[in-house]
Amino acid sequence: MKYNILAFAVPLFVVFMLLEYFVAKQKKLKLFDLHRSIANVSIGILERLTDVLAAAVFYGVYDYLQKTYGIFEIKPTIAMWILLFLGTDFIWYWYHRLAHEMNVLWAVHVVHHQSEDFNYTVSARITLLQAMVRTGFWSVLPILGFPAEMIVVMLLIHGLYPFFVHTQVIGKLGFLEYFLVTPSHHRVHHACNDEYLDKNYGDVLIIWDKLFGTFKKEDEKPVYGLTHQLNTYSFMWQHFHFFIELWIMVKREKTLKGKIKMIFGSPNLIDPAAREKAESVFGIKHHEEPLQQRLNNYVVWQVIFMLITLFFFILFEFELGAMEKFLFTTFTVLTLINCGAIMEQKKWVFAVEFLRMLVIGSALYIYNADYHIVTFFICAVLALLALFYRTVEERYLSVVYQEQ
Ligand SMILES: [Zn+2]
Ligand SMILES: [Zn+2]
Repeated sequence: MKYNILAFAVPLFVVFMLLEYFVAKQKKLKLFDLHRSIANVSIGILERLTDVLAAAVFYGVYDYLQKTYGIFEIKPTIAMWILLFLGTDFIWYWYHRLAHEMNVLWAVHVVHHQSEDFNYTVSARITLLQAMVRTGFWSVLPILGFPAEMIVVMLLIHGLYPFFVHTQVIGKLGFLEYFLVTPSHHRVHHACNDEYLDKNYGDVLIIWDKLFGTFKKEDEKPVYGLTHQLNTYSFMWQHFHFFIELWIMVKREKTLKGKIKMIFGSPNLIDPAAREKAESVFGIKHHEEPLQQRLNNYVVWQVIFMLITLFFFILFEFELGAMEKFLFTTFTVLTLINCGAIMEQKKWVFAVEFLRMLVIGSALYIYNADYHIVTFFICAVLALLALFYRTVEERYLSVVYQEQ
């Protein structure tokens, strides 16, 4: 059997998150908010999952580009590995800088910056869309002639490093501060203090920021998150709110030139009122205060369950068929939406539970030889629900939201 050892990234990250949590607790630092951590980890779960599905496509793109358009024939010598490392990091700097300077790219990168906390769980805030945009930027490498095998290995190493800089428990790191992106540098990048905005874009090396004038040392205490905080745990909203705001702004522009300028221009062009308009259209609740209500264990257990199943899903990825992958992905996405909706105290979460049951029912149908029992089971559930929908819904909501 062939295993995908990348699965071990999941427990590795979880161990570091727990370690940071206990260190912070010992130092009496309040670095973790349960709701925010769940929102962060939820985004990471979907990214890991979709990345597993998309990795072959990314590899294929690099391989095709190198074989078709590769300018030089590059062999994996030490000098070339060093050059590849520098090239990867240099392209990252420009990808990241443009992701902060152009609305259309900020729409996908903004997800990484929504958390008002700063801890290891924040590093999980990457989405498939971000991965796709990055792949686009890194396509320069195969065109230069770097083979896909080399690029993929480099991206793995390059992808692991930034996890470790998302922490407040590590102070400044002496001489490493001169050339590496350290936790201190990245704290500045995630801060919304005026003097810290649009600084420290580097991923592994901080030299690019120093070279291109975007470097800032950590002096005053950073305040984390967006300049205009999102204040919602809605899973979908975190992913798509900026696309909708951008759409509202583009529609408002009268000329084609104005529309193009809005799409490729700076996020500063976005009127803060566009957020409010988008929120009112989609009925998004705005928490002025963090949720006081005790979070139901149900959400915590669902996240734990998803992390465990995600580990096994990645580990046995090569053994799974397309249908199994589809069902697992659908179930996971529904569960993530469900968790976000519970934190938002949405009543429609009950309907999401049905969709999840439908996926389980379909899986039983596909993988169970005894269709009669499954059919009977599904019919019985449907009949019971048709009869007692309101009562079941009320009971469910009162249990989930712990209403008396
Ligand atoms: Zn950024
Ligand atoms: Zn970051």
